[in-house]
Amino acid sequence: MKVLRGKTALLTGASRGIGIPIAKALAEQGVNLILVARNTDNLNKASKELKSSSVKVFTIAFDLGKIDQLSDLVDEADTLINGVDILINNAGIDVCVPYHKMNTEDIDQIINVNLTAPMILSKLFLPKMFERGEGHIVNIASLSGLVGTPYDESYTASKHGLVGFSRSLRITATGESYPVGISVICPGFISDTGMWADAEREANVKAPSSIGTSSPEKVAKAVVTAITKNKLEVIVNPTPFRPLLLLQSLFPSLAPWLTQKSGTTQLMKEVAYHYLNERE
Ligand code: NAP
Repeated sequence: MKVLRGKTALLTGASRGIGIPIAKALAEQGVNLILVARNTDNLNKASKELKSSSVKVFTIAFDLGKIDQLSDLVDEADTLINGVDILINNAGIDVCVPYHKMNTEDIDQIINVNLTAPMILSKLFLPKMFERGEGHIVNIASLSGLVGTPYDESYTASKHGLVGFSRSLRITATGESYPVGISVICPGFISDTGMWADAEREANVKAPSSIGTSSPEKVAKAVVTAITKNKLEVIVNPTPFRPLLLLQSLFPSLAPWLTQKSGTTQLMKEVAYHYLNERE
């Protein structure tokens, strides 16, 4: 989708964190926005910040964990403005504790919000995009969608699922000449705002210098580029990550050693035990 001005995007996870710079970047491109999250106060605050831009901004308070009500969200979005051109599945949650201490409800909720909701929303919006003759779906995954993140098994599983879903749908879309682009963004550790910035502050840790952090604005920029250049997969990380992926796919048994060497295993252990202690 080359021209974004005048289009409408439904952005989930728009009440805080990385969702805010994504909304701003799209508004700067002239994209009208439907902001979705649960917290109404935060949604209104985010919407107010965007009001100075020339685009229309709507909010829908909705719990994406309520999978069987997702069609209501799609119907409501359609009544607000003349249909949705761009779907950005950005909402995500993480519960980082040692896996055998996870609650079954937490595992369910992570899979529902991070994977099932994006899949169902994509399915519901695709026919509408076909009718419009244009559309784009962007899924915000993570480096955890490409490699195993220790002490974060449910989140990693959900993000691997989201990457696999995006790759598969993209191949189908290409084969069938869908007028719809499919992209997946894989950010590493993000600074300043969002779930990792919260973890750094709460568990008093820092991302390993061998991996580093990126600004949330970099993710927002990647979203805009993914849509305008119809990119399948964009990694957002300050250090090159694809050589590591290549090494891991050639020699899978090296993964635990490489992850330990980067300092990630110890880091995630500290985070997981911090949250476990808080919970118990
Ligand atoms: P965040 O600050 O925790 O924000 C998460 C957003 O998702 C909020 O707007 C939250 O709004 C919404 N959300 C959570 N549960 C929801 C539910 N049940 N229904 C509706 N909305 C829900 O997270 P973030 O760091 O901005 O993460 C955004 C995306 O980037 C996620 O998919 C995350 O996995 C991915 N990511 C983040 C990082 C990072 O370092 N931060 C790195 C890689 C990937 P409400 O609470 O108001 O509902």
